[in-house]
This record gives sequence, structure tokens and C-alpha cells, in this order.
Amino acid sequence: MKKWKLGALMFLVFMFAVSPSASILQAYDFEGNEEEWLNRCSTAQSSQSGAQACEAFKKYYAGQEKELKKEISSLDRQIDKIGNDIEKLNGALKTQEKLIASINKKIEINEANINKINSEIKILDEKILKLQKSIDERNKIIKDRMKDDQAYIGTNMSLEIVMGAQDLTDMVRKMDGLRRIDEADQKEIKIILEEKEKQDLQKKEQVRLKEEQEKTKEDNVKQKKQAEQVKKQKQELIKKFREQEAALDEKMRSVKVDLSTIQDNIISISSGFDFSGNATLAKPVNGSISAHSFYYPDGSVHLGLDVAVPLLTPIYAPGNGIILYADNPVSTNSGYIGNTSGYPSGTGNSIHMLTQANGTTYALSFFHMAQENFAVRAGQSVKKGQLLGLSGNTGNTTGPHCHLEVINLGKMSIAQAVSQFQATADFSWGNGWGNTGLSGICDVKGAPCREHPEKIYGY
Ligand SMILES: [Zn+2]
Repeated sequence: MKKWKLGALMFLVFMFAVSPSASILQAYDFEGNEEEWLNRCSTAQSSQSGAQACEAFKKYYAGQEKELKKEISSLDRQIDKIGNDIEKLNGALKTQEKLIASINKKIEINEANINKINSEIKILDEKILKLQKSIDERNKIIKDRMKDDQAYIGTNMSLEIVMGAQDLTDMVRKMDGLRRIDEADQKEIKIILEEKEKQDLQKKEQVRLKEEQEKTKEDNVKQKKQAEQVKKQKQELIKKFREQEAALDEKMRSVKVDLSTIQDNIISISSGFDFSGNATLAKPVNGSISAHSFYYPDGSVHLGLDVAVPLLTPIYAPGNGIILYADNPVSTNSGYIGNTSGYPSGTGNSIHMLTQANGTTYALSFFHMAQENFAVRAGQSVKKGQLLGLSGNTGNTTGPHCHLEVINLGKMSIAQAVSQFQATADFSWGNGWGNTGLSGICDVKGAPCREHPEKIYGY
């Protein structure tokens, strides 16, 4: 074999060895820039290479989808195995939250892209129409001119030549033979060909975008299904948590608090307080109820009422009263399932106050509050409607909300209540927490007992 032939062969072998698909993937920066690429590919590409990049991205993105599916099914298996291990439950929950966030983000991007593609398709429609009009006009001009100048050439023939040419060179070659095309006509024809080429790319892009939109719509349906699946998994996890918690609660919350740590917060005033004007107790916060007393929607025990509200929603005193306890040790949005911060354990930033309505004494709890604008301190008296603080997402929570509890103390005097609280620091007033708390509700026993806050506040 001659040297140059060998060289050429080696070169060819080398060219094939470099896999074209690998080099395409290497050339793009898809990873970490998915949103940008999704965005870019939802618009009409003005070049062939742009359209190719979008095809490559589509493949890359489909691969990512597989990873997500794997992660979801591995979580499924994990949940089965976890049992009652709180730490592992927490780990799985965190993974899930990340998954949900990323799926929701995808749904959001998809929706934006579907809209964007729609408007792109419309724009392309207009452009294609406009070009067609221009092409038609130019065709007519040439046709008319040929008709006038060269009566013996069929008008259709000129049109066929123009529209049937492969490219400009072909066109000119054909025209040259006829020698009837003057310079002005040639210019017109050149423009027509260029416009046709542009129109072709636009039509192709329109087809690609329509496909892209279909795919995105399908993908969104898929993503929404996946989000549902992960949400169900999360509910399952939370239920496990709550069952665990009901047992733990009893241990954690009834441990006698080291009173010296909260002594500063406990009140010193106890008598001569005016409760007149508390005919009824008002709703402390406005929002939708996310869990009633005394069960969560999933069937696990819930000793209060959850009002779902955005972070930093004002919470007001339901009646004239005295603050027994108020502490805001943790930051406003620090809550998560299993978080034990605050007092009682897991309540984050909390307030406990005494009030009276129609001769009955009540102890009211407000849990999971914000750290900022915490407006009261223990020992202070408050008026009905006065700001207590803002809602937060602190302690043992699955999201921003205010947990309300109401203990009916019957005819207990304020002085008596204050001294009992000073001695016990017990927000449950002997009624217990978790499953035990169920035997302390006013439906089954007399005061002190746990009331349905819905009933007392009129939710
Ligand atoms: Zn609650």
C-alpha cells in the first residue's frame, strides 16, 4: 500500500473511532443548565446546528427522567424497611422533599414552556405566511414580465423553472440557457430562492416545536403523576412519624420541665384582672383548617386545631387575658417533622395564656409561631384582639401553620391557675399528650379537659 493511501486510511479509522454521539454530548453543557436548555429549545431555532443541539438535549433529558424514576422506587422500598426508626424516617423525608421540589420545578418550567411554544408557533405562522406572500408577489412580477417580453415562452414554464430549481446555481444555469432573464429578474429570483430557503427552515422548526410541545405536555402529565406518587409516600411517612410521636410525646412532654429554665417567663401577677368583655373568644388567626381536633386526616392523634396560614400572619389574643408563657428561641422557618425545639417539646416558638369567658377559665396555646415580632412576654396582660405575634413554621411541623389548643379549667380561679402552672409548667393541665391525651378531652371527662378549639373559637 502506498504511503498516502495508508495515511488516508488511518485518518478514516481515526474519524470513526471518535463516536459522533459522544462528541455531541461533550460539546454541550446540559448538566446543571437544564432550565436554560429547556427554555432555549422552546423557541424557534434559526440554524440547523441549534435544532441539532435541541435534539441532543431531548435525549439527555429523557435519561434524567429514568434516574428520577429509580429514586422514587428506591424510596418506596426504603419506606417499607424503615419501620419506626425516626432518624431514618427523617432522612427519607428530606430526600422526598427534595424530589417534590425538583418535580414541582419541572412542572412549572414545563407549563411556561408550553405557553412559550404556543406563541412561537403563532409567530412562525405569521412569518411563513408573510414570506409566502412575498414569494407569490415576486413570482407574479416575473411571470408578468416574461409574458410581456417573451410571448413565445409559456408563462407556466417560467414559473416551473423558478420554483423547480434546486438552488441558485441550478437556476442560473437553466436561465442562462434561455437568455431571457435580465438582471432585474435574476435579482428577484435570487430573493425568491433565499426566501424559500428561510421558509423551509421555519416550517421545519414549526414541526419540531409542535412535537416538542406534545412531548412537554406528555411529560407534564407524567411529572404530575410522579408528584402524586411522592406525595402519597410522604403522607405514609408522616403517618409513621405521628404514630411514633404519639408514643414519644408522652415521654418527652410530660418530663417535668426544669422550671428554673423557664422561671423568668412565668408570671408574677395573679389577681385583680378584668375579664369582662370576654363574652365569646374570638378566632386568633384567619386561615383554612388543615387538621381538626382530635385526629389528623390520616387518622393519627392530633390534640389541637391546625390553621394553615402563610408565614408571618398575625395572631391575636382571643380575649382579655394574662400571658403565662411566651418564648421564641428558634428562627421562623426552621420547622420539620421530628423537630423537638421549643417548649413543650416540638412546639417551636410558643405562647400560653389564661383567659375567662362566661365564668369559665381557659388556658390557650399557640404553637409553631414566628421568631420576629413576638409581641408579648410572660406576666403581661393582653386585651382581646391585641397582637400576640406572627405565624411561623417552627418545631415539629410539615409546613407553616398555627396549632391551637384550648384547655377548659372550669371554675378554677386565676390565682389558682397561675400557681398550678408555676408548679407544673404543664400546658396540658394534667390531660397528657399523644394517645394519652385522648382520654383527657372534654367529650369524655370534666374540667380540666381539652376542648375542641373549633367549638370555642367558632372556626
Ligand atoms: Zn397541630
